[in-house]
Amino acid sequence: MNVASCPDRHALRAFSSGELSGDRIREVAEHVDSCTSCQSILDAQSNDAEPVVAALRQPPAEPEYSNESEYRHALAFVQAIGRAENSVDDRSSPTLVARWTEMF
Ligand SMILES: [Zn+2]
Repeated sequence: MNVASCPDRHALRAFSSGELSGDRIREVAEHVDSCTSCQSILDAQSNDAEPVVAALRQPPAEPEYSNESEYRHALAFVQAIGRAENSVDDRSSPTLVARWTEMF
């Protein structure tokens, strides 16, 4: 699904802090992925944003890690944290990261 127009800054803020619903997050993520304007807005917000935003903006296909197996290990580690915290219903960063990891 394409998002025709840019989400407003409130939506982007909610997006960056993981407060949108799953469907909406997917819409905004797909839009931001192809919209440099929104990317720069998120960049400007990234100073106080969740670490997951920075991770989201880094396409897994072009990591700056030279050791790919180490990168995969780190990814598996994050996913393991997510499974371990499945029963915890809060907004801690590991849980958010797990949600994102499962979503994409
Ligand atoms: Zn946009």
